Amino acid sequence: MALTGLQIQKLLPKTNCKECGVNTCLAFAMKLAARKAEIGDCPYASEEAIAVLSEAYEPPVKAIQLGPDSALKLGGETVLYRHEKTFVNQTLLAINVNDTDDPAVVEDTLGAVKDYTVERVGEIIDIDMVAVSHRGSSIDTFVDLAMKAWCEVGKPLVLRSHDPAALKAAAVAVAGSLSVLATATPDTVDGLVEVAKEYEHALALTAPDLNALVTAAGRLREEGFNNLILQFETHSLAERFQTNSIARRTAIKANYKPLGFPFLRFIDGGDLVANTVEAVTEITKFGGICVLPRFDAAQIAALITLRLNIFTDPQKPIQVEPKIYPIGEPDADSPVFVTTNFSLTYFIVGGEIENSGLSAWLVVPECEGMSVLTAWAAGKFSGAAVAKFCKEAGLEEKVNRREIIIPGYAAQISGDLEENLPGWTVLVGPQEASDLESFIKARLSQDLR
Ligand code: SF4
Repeated sequence: MALTGLQIQKLLPKTNCKECGVNTCLAFAMKLAARKAEIGDCPYASEEAIAVLSEAYEPPVKAIQLGPDSALKLGGETVLYRHEKTFVNQTLLAINVNDTDDPAVVEDTLGAVKDYTVERVGEIIDIDMVAVSHRGSSIDTFVDLAMKAWCEVGKPLVLRSHDPAALKAAAVAVAGSLSVLATATPDTVDGLVEVAKEYEHALALTAPDLNALVTAAGRLREEGFNNLILQFETHSLAERFQTNSIARRTAIKANYKPLGFPFLRFIDGGDLVANTVEAVTEITKFGGICVLPRFDAAQIAALITLRLNIFTDPQKPIQVEPKIYPIGEPDADSPVFVTTNFSLTYFIVGGEIENSGLSAWLVVPECEGMSVLTAWAAGKFSGAAVAKFCKEAGLEEKVNRREIIIPGYAAQISGDLEENLPGWTVLVGPQEASDLESFIKARLSQDLR
């Protein structure tokens, strides 16, 4: 339960030494209560204060770190719905390979995972993990495949076996990868916890039913082992949807610690549509790691796009850097367009100009990531503001042509812009970016190409 400022103050040294950057311990306590400071900012905080505050302010879902340099994170969530605040760590996507697969299939899959990248709204996104499944009888074959996947792809693994000895051998072989050992049961968990601790891997835990799972997870938590991921035994899509929802709701709303861990889900077999639906359920319903049975570039692109929508902070519009962007290979005589720095707007406008075959300059002033109409209504896309940005960004030195094309939705700023950019002519472009190509063909002369 969150502590008040006065409760926190009682835990502080009360010397008002100011080394934390504020004048009094009480003021610092108020900042801690508002989560605007960290207890580590006070060099004199006692171990008790650190322990109490860490416990009080830890997220209801444990944060787990995977991969070299702990670069991949899952869990750490504090809200049930993204509109309440934001989801902080997206569902990680993994592609499965089996130790019984044809070597050519393994090569193709690992190569595809390694090489796959997709760009979405300016972000380069790749596949997060590889899952290595022990389907055959040989531990050595499983371990060899785990090492091959780790060495060739360099991403953390989900090591999947029912045999604790196989998991231990693979855990040792890929030590340093900070992978996931999957999956311990109440019968095997004690031995595997020791392996996970020694080789710094996370451990996935399952049980035949939810009661047995929370009993085992609760015990591990009390014993101080938190590098845990839960894998639910479910038998239908509806049950998976319900179980994920109930478990996350219980962890966050009731602060029920045994369910306060990320979830792991293996999607085995099924046709492409069926397992895409399964993956969509995981991404939209609190999945931590979702293992896909095979690599399919179209499926991955769709899932990544969905994931971006779910895990983008709704309070922070996705923005591009305010600057003058070249579209194609513009020169000093190329036309100049202007739009806002909302990523979606920028990429759509830039894409439409590019599709027209025209090289141009795209002026993108700071508009706090708002779309054209919103920025104009909020006073962020006024003629004066656009003119000021053009001058500061050196537009006049970049181009000879004194003509600037503004979005049709902001036609109202044309007079103001001409006034603030003496010597320039303002052309009003179309309202919709999809009409840019025909606008360019109809209005701009061939000598611009
Ligand atoms: Fe108080 Fe610690 Fe801040 Fe000093 S550094 S004023 S002891 S909270």
